[in-house]
Amino acid sequence: MIDVKTIRKDFLIFQNNPDLVFLDNASTTQKPQSVIDTLSHYYENYNANIHRGIYQIAEKATAAYEKTRDNVKEFIGAKDRRSIVFTKGTTESINLVANSWGGENLKPGDEVLITEMEHHSNIIPWQLICKRTGANLKYIPINEDGSLDLSDPEKYFTINTKIVCVIHQSNVFGTINPIAEIVKLAHEVGALVLVDGAQSTPHHKVNVSELNCDFFAFSGHKMLGPTGVGVLYAKPELLEAMHPFLGGGEMIRKVTMEESTWNDIPWKFEAGTPNIAQVIGLGSAIDYINKIGRENITEYETELLKYAQEKLQSIPGINIYGTVKDKGAVFSFNVENIHPHDVAHILDTYGIAIRAGHHCAQPIMKKLNIAATNRASFYIYNTLGEIDQLVNGLIKTVELFN
Ligand code: PLP
Repeated sequence: MIDVKTIRKDFLIFQNNPDLVFLDNASTTQKPQSVIDTLSHYYENYNANIHRGIYQIAEKATAAYEKTRDNVKEFIGAKDRRSIVFTKGTTESINLVANSWGGENLKPGDEVLITEMEHHSNIIPWQLICKRTGANLKYIPINEDGSLDLSDPEKYFTINTKIVCVIHQSNVFGTINPIAEIVKLAHEVGALVLVDGAQSTPHHKVNVSELNCDFFAFSGHKMLGPTGVGVLYAKPELLEAMHPFLGGGEMIRKVTMEESTWNDIPWKFEAGTPNIAQVIGLGSAIDYINKIGRENITEYETELLKYAQEKLQSIPGINIYGTVKDKGAVFSFNVENIHPHDVAHILDTYGIAIRAGHHCAQPIMKKLNIAATNRASFYIYNTLGEIDQLVNGLIKTVELFN
């Protein structure tokens, strides 16, 4: 079990903001001092561009950058370091696949299958590429409880399905989707699978080889790492066959005035100067998570989840969205007759930071027939005491409006 008191000491933001109750971790997480120090250390000691310089600090920077690739490979259970492409984040990773793979492989009549539970970043790239290629976009529906409706798979997984793109853990409901089952259904009809792991990777042990997904995307900033860095995992044979996404320096082998050839994977997909400091910082975030242990993280968050569930349910007029058993520590809820923005605003006056809005998942809001929800999402530095503060804040908010 993790020692939350000790963990909180690693996060200076809590010492600098003693009244802050930060419950917007699905949006972004706070950074431990080790990650901040790693960034400073790079800039103060060996700041140089990578893969090019033959002087010492450039070689050191290159080694640190490439070491993170090995770190990520181990962290997500990939078999081959060539599968790990550094991007700006989940959004860029999905756009890379939609454009490079989708642009080459989709044609009129093909189907891209996503779900009604997706974050906009796993909807819009597919809408755009479907429009460009003439493919059709289909949605697996969701149930009232925030689960996927997989009761009629033949209706959705067809011989026309070319790729299935699915969120691993919902940023609205917290639902953890049955990825292995979806991969099996997709592969049976010859379709590939892309998993949006933005919300699962920070909280649970992820093994892309066991999931047998074809693509997996996640962001560094949601798992204690810096902003501006993310990962696309892809099976190497897919990356080999795909055309580059962005063109420029580093991604080429030979350039003539007429045409060019491409660098080996994964560098074929890392055009230009990458986010060197952020990639190295991501490596440090992974070290921190590994030190705590992902089983311990899941175990602790399950305790937070159970406690919050019980406490939140006792608040008069509260409606919680997403009630499946298999879920992460994320709560979307509304309080009767009080607009979510008012709830979030009042809680903010008590120092409690939660999110209010559509959470970049407007199709879910449409399905639930609401405009917005409040959302409280937890991470390893949150405490049971903070859940009490949230609940007390909500009770005071209800009193204020009645
Ligand atoms: N997918 C999910 C499930 C998310 O929650 C988010 C961010 O909130 C994203 C994708 C997009 O991540 P990023 O903004 O880091 O690219």
